[in-house]
Amino acid sequence: MIDISLIKKDLTEIGKQIIKENNLSDIEIQFKHVRRGRARRKTRKITIPIWAITGVKAYGIYYVIHEIVHFIKYDLYNLGDYHGELFKKIETSILKKYNIKSIYNKAYAKYLTDLNGNKICKKYGEAIDFYEKV
Ligand SMILES: [Zn+2]
Repeated sequence: MIDISLIKKDLTEIGKQIIKENNLSDIEIQFKHVRRGRARRKTRKITIPIWAITGVKAYGIYYVIHEIVHFIKYDLYNLGDYHGELFKKIETSILKKYNIKSIYNKAYAKYLTDLNGNKICKKYGEAIDFYEKV
C-alpha cells in the first residue's frame, strides 16, 4: 500500500530544494486529482496530478521538475509557457542531478532512463503500482 502523504512530503522537499538552488521566490506545490499538471505564474502555484506520483518515484520527480522549470523560465528569463530548446536544456540539467534522463516526445517524456541509459519507466502506464527510491 502506497503512503501518498509520504510521497507528497518527499516530492515537496525535492521541489523546495530545487526552488532554493535556483534562487526562485517561493512556489506552492500542490497535488490534486487532475489530468494534467500546471504552473500558474500569477499565483505561484504548481499542481501535480496524483496519478503522476503513485508510480515510480523518478516519474514524480520528473513531473515536479518539469513544472518548476516553467518558473525558472518565467522568473529568470521572463519567458512564457512554451517548451522550447531552452526549456529542455534546463530540465535535462536538473534531472541529471537525480540520475534521470528524459527521452522526449515533443514537450514531454516519452519515457525516462537513468544516466546509464537503463529504462526507468514509460510515461505512466509502466510500473505505476509500485514506488521505489531512485
Ligand atoms: Zn509544461
